[in-house]
Formats: sequence, structure tokens, C-alpha cells
Amino acid sequence: MNCYDCAVRAVSTSAVAVCVDCGVGLCVDHAEVTPRRLTRTAAMNRAVPVGPVTRTVRCHLCRAALDAATGPCGPVAARAGSPATARSAPTG
Ligand SMILES: [Zn+2]
Ligand SMILES: [Zn+2]
Repeated sequence: MNCYDCAVRAVSTSAVAVCVDCGVGLCVDHAEVTPRRLTRTAAMNRAVPVGPVTRTVRCHLCRAALDAATGPCGPVAARAGSPATARSAPTG
């Protein structure tokens, strides 16, 4: 397989990775590697990091689209936590 982004420029370069989103072949220059931390859900719905940091390979187009979708703060910023509900305990 050859790199798609090189092929559209009429250059033939062997692909070393595949974009996880769109599936095109990518050379070293066109592959964008981002770290990926896997988690497991523990008690109280807590996300606990596990194992070594892995990686995700995307083309520059899918990387730009992902950055635009998640924003500079990432998807976690959308849920800043629910306000604590104050309940008055029945007395007596
Ligand atoms: Zn390339
Ligand atoms: Zn892609």
C-alpha cells in the first residue's frame, strides 16, 4: 500500500500506517500520532488509567476535524460536573 496524501501529489511512498478514521494509507511524514490512554471504569463510575500509553494514528485531515469537533479543551470540558443537590434530611 502507498501513502494516499503522497499519491495525490503524484509521489509514490510506501505506507507505514493507516488512518483510524478514514482508512487511508499514510507515510511517516503524513501520519499524525497522538497518545491514547486507556481506562477502565471503577466503582463510583471513576475512570482509572490502565497499562502503558498507547497511540492513535490519523491523517492530517481527520486530525484537524477531530480538533475542531472537540475544541481546545477536549470533550471533557462539556461535562463540568453536576451541581450538588441539597436535600434536607427529615428531622424528628
Ligand atoms: Zn505521505
Ligand atoms: Zn483520516
